[in-house]
Amino acid sequence: MARQDNTVRPGSSTAAVHGGRAPDRPWPRGMTTPVFQSSTYELDGAAYEDIARTGGTETWWYSRLGNPTVDAVAAKVAALEGAPAAQAFASGMAAITATVMTAAPPGGRIVAARELYGEAFTLLDQVVPESGRSVTFVAMSDLEAWRRELPGADAAYVETLSNPMLRVADLPTIAGLARDHGATAIVDSTFASPVNVRPLEHGFDLVVHSATKYLGGHSDLMAGVVAGSEPLVARITAIAKTFGGCLDPLTAATLDRSLKTLVLRMERHNDNALAIARWLRAQDQVEAVSYPLLDDHPDVALARTLLAGGSGIVTFRAEGGDARAGALMDALSLIVQATSLGGVESLVSAPYNTSHRQLSADQRSAIGILPGTLRLSVGVEDVADLIDDLGAALTASAPAVSGDRAGYR
Ligand code: PLP
Repeated sequence: MARQDNTVRPGSSTAAVHGGRAPDRPWPRGMTTPVFQSSTYELDGAAYEDIARTGGTETWWYSRLGNPTVDAVAAKVAALEGAPAAQAFASGMAAITATVMTAAPPGGRIVAARELYGEAFTLLDQVVPESGRSVTFVAMSDLEAWRRELPGADAAYVETLSNPMLRVADLPTIAGLARDHGATAIVDSTFASPVNVRPLEHGFDLVVHSATKYLGGHSDLMAGVVAGSEPLVARITAIAKTFGGCLDPLTAATLDRSLKTLVLRMERHNDNALAIARWLRAQDQVEAVSYPLLDDHPDVALARTLLAGGSGIVTFRAEGGDARAGALMDALSLIVQATSLGGVESLVSAPYNTSHRQLSADQRSAIGILPGTLRLSVGVEDVADLIDDLGAALTASAPAVSGDRAGYR
């Protein structure tokens, strides 16, 4: 577990650049965090004493249990989220797994939004129940359902902006209900990033990220983070040490470097995505566009009060179902077909055969993923070039498309 670096002033841009510097004495005082590429550390009297006294929580003595470079990047994320503490992981799913398993003990119950990233849904729908915890799913925007289900629950779990339909969670209300019933409020804020909202300021106890996405930002690493209060994060860290999904120091250093430009990147992602959402909305062949700051988004009022920006994802549906969606993706020349998001390059994927392939067609349509749905992760390129690419692909894919593209990836 890493503690927030209290020497950092509160502005997000300052925290992104200066937060979480690893101690590099007695080496030269470099501008960057050193990569402590060591699996183990020489033990001395102080280390043995800490191991005996605390189990070794204050000392670095074996890298699965803690590493200075990894802890430095976790401290930077803690600073960005305004959290007292954070723990880094090898992936977003490792962070989510350790977090939900800690928040609800065996025999406990989690209330989760049904609109979730596919793998997180599978974790909660299938894996977590096998471990003796039960999970109740509610529609994310149905506050009555949260109110009904939260009494007696151990944890609430939701995404700030749901993947892929971009519904906006009513963070203050859900956090308030969880608090009223003594449940730990957990939010996956991967899609929003701490630049667009800091969920702990709205009452959430824990915020998790797939740092693979915006925090990493360059499609070159896998990582996850959870941030929150020291006691809660310490409990998650204790489980994480046993689960073993630890981040490696080289990746931590890459993530640390990426975070320095997070605020700059997010500003461009926000601007580009809003412009593209508005442009798509004006196209005859586009049946639906979901972007939190569009006037006709069901949660636009909430988005305007909660979010500093709408983030970089635009989900849309062109006429012609999945076959047209596949043809449209094939016709793009700049935007790349790939199933991730949050990088500097624009990526597009069809949730039905990628991020939400684990769901049945009925489960997908219940959360709004209708045939033809595409998830566009808008990068930081020149927005005019992206719009040209989309315009050309819409035209090129316009003729009726035939054939079964069910296996299309
Ligand atoms: N949370 C969200 C919202 C995601 O979109 C993803 C991956 O796409 C994850 C968590 C899982 O993160 P990772 O792939 O880093 O394990």
